[in-house]
Amino acid sequence: MNRRYFLQNSALTFGALTLAQQKIFSSMLEDPWKIQMLRNDIGIFTEKGGTIAFLLSKKGIVVVDAEFPEQSKHLIDELKKRSEKPFKLLINTHHHLDHTSGNISFKGIVDHVLGHENSLKNQKNVAVANKTEDKQLYPDQTFTDTHHYKIGKEKISLYYHGPGHTDGDAIIHFENANIVHMGDLVFNRRHPFIDRSAGASIKNWIMVLNKASNHFNSDTIFVFGHAQDGYEVTGKPDDLKQFGDYLEQVLQFVESEIKAGKTKDEVVKTTVLPFKTEWKGDGLNRPLQAAYEELMAK
Ligand SMILES: [Zn+2]
Ligand SMILES: [Zn+2]
Repeated sequence: MNRRYFLQNSALTFGALTLAQQKIFSSMLEDPWKIQMLRNDIGIFTEKGGTIAFLLSKKGIVVVDAEFPEQSKHLIDELKKRSEKPFKLLINTHHHLDHTSGNISFKGIVDHVLGHENSLKNQKNVAVANKTEDKQLYPDQTFTDTHHYKIGKEKISLYYHGPGHTDGDAIIHFENANIVHMGDLVFNRRHPFIDRSAGASIKNWIMVLNKASNHFNSDTIFVFGHAQDGYEVTGKPDDLKQFGDYLEQVLQFVESEIKAGKTKDEVVKTTVLPFKTEWKGDGLNRPLQAAYEELMAK
């Protein structure tokens, strides 16, 4: 069963259980974190929110993304058990809350926070709108096109290829280990969130995925922000290609629906895509609505 569906609906039936059953149930519902080393001294942490990557080098620790405040505290505790080195750098793939609201746990313990200049702009806009500025730790370093950072034996390169999931998505390459954090530029086998309020572009997103799958190679391990239940948050260049194909087909489908005179409401209500795809689960309305709005905005 779909986990999210299960969680939503289990809340409704919770009252029908005995106390003992409720206890067992509660422990099942907890989301324990998972840590997995990928290659060299680089690993990933997953609990709730966008996948975190970390580097435990002899010169210090680098973290990519921070999930939520509670999760980043778990992460920091776990990393401290594995390394006595200082936290040198926290990188944000983009501004969304499930990637940056945990930044605050690094306040006073990390030397620098780095993100694309638009990620900082977006994080500020959202925090001002939500009146949560005091809960933010903003990047004190930003970049526009590329950025390079060397630590111990590892060289980290950041790339920006224009709007995709937002207008501030960084691609982060650990060159020596050949591991790339794609942030939310890849939703593995799961319908993506496309943040038009933060300048997303499906058309350009497809190009960004093309560039990334050409730039890196078959040895590269890609880390994805999110994955469908039962799928990995890591993958290969082919996963990028397939996600690009999915986005392309969503755009083509919506374009044909618009030509056929369908309204936005009709398009968004589509439940089955008329092409073969491994992308599934809930939230199909999100890419459909974003595609409709993007195509009509021309
Ligand atoms: Zn995310
Ligand atoms: Zn996101």
